[in-house]
Amino acid sequence: MNLDELFQYLQTPRKIALLTHVRPDGDAIGSALAMKMYLEKKGHTAHVIAPDDFPDFLDWMPQSNQVHVHLRNRKTCFAILTQMECIFFLDFNAMKRIELLGEDVQKLYQPFVSVMIDHHREPDNFTKYRLWDDTASSTAELVYTFIQMAGDLQLLDKDMAACLYAGMALDTGVFQYSNTTPKVHQIAGALMEYGLQVDTIHNALYNQYGENRLRFIGYLLTQKMQIIPEYRTAYMSITMKEAEQFSLSIGDKEGIVNIPLAMRDVDIAVLFTEDKDKIKISFRSKGEVNVEAFSRRFYNGGGHKNASGGSSRLSLEETERNLQVHLAAYFSGPDVSE
Ligand code: 5GP
Ligand code: MN
Repeated sequence: MNLDELFQYLQTPRKIALLTHVRPDGDAIGSALAMKMYLEKKGHTAHVIAPDDFPDFLDWMPQSNQVHVHLRNRKTCFAILTQMECIFFLDFNAMKRIELLGEDVQKLYQPFVSVMIDHHREPDNFTKYRLWDDTASSTAELVYTFIQMAGDLQLLDKDMAACLYAGMALDTGVFQYSNTTPKVHQIAGALMEYGLQVDTIHNALYNQYGENRLRFIGYLLTQKMQIIPEYRTAYMSITMKEAEQFSLSIGDKEGIVNIPLAMRDVDIAVLFTEDKDKIKISFRSKGEVNVEAFSRRFYNGGGHKNASGGSSRLSLEETERNLQVHLAAYFSGPDVSE
């Protein structure tokens, strides 16, 4: 899409909100913070609003203390939104992905210019402008591309580079998933030129857990993990009681779903996480197995071919039982790799 009109619009100082999806991850927060810093350098006013809390292993990100959390400060967030001329939607492509925050956006009376920057499959059409590419590794990569297309790469600094590098690192599994393209390495290299210490960033992202998390992983793998050999699938569940027993924070659950993929005979990993009113489900897969289509079809979800999510309103037990039924239906269908 030709974004020149948008770049022209952004030549005048604007009041801009940057929104991320629920349970924002490092790509969402890193992209939003880098975009905030960029827009401020351009003379705009920018506010980041997240629907709910982000994991505390992202606290090191510059300006992370400036993120407004809608769930905790709904009034303040709405007051900010009513002042906005422009809203960026970052790292998601359907209004349902921001839940209650989306309801507030839809209540706004003032007209606003809307922009989507996203890399998830099957975007809804709800913004005037979009930079959307499902072959991009991350929204962070697209934010870099956005700044580049605007001809503003000279505005990048070390703080922005750290946020973007972290977003790319997290969404590529530290440059190991199939979304790791030559361009990803080129951009990561360009970002490193700002003086990033990649080991420091890696330690901040991956080596920040308490003893409880590792012991919990041990418990999950020994006591909870189930394997369905027929469908090369492993699944685990985390109940609210277990989360409390092991004092798990939001960040402690991150990444756990990937672990079973380390097994030679497993191509699909599933994690059920019990929440107050639903079961949140995460899917990961290897190679050609498309869990995006699977979660879209059975769990009102979406995401990427090898990493997707969805939810279920049934009980945890029923949701677990249904998995096998859905896998059977899915694997007997026409194609599971599209
Ligand atoms: P995670 O399992 O880490 O929560 O999410 C994996 C990927 O799937 C992410 O790219 C995330 O944005 C997407 N995703 C997670 N949950 C949902 C959901 O309920 N709906 C949709 N459309 N995408 C989701
Ligand atoms: Mn992302």
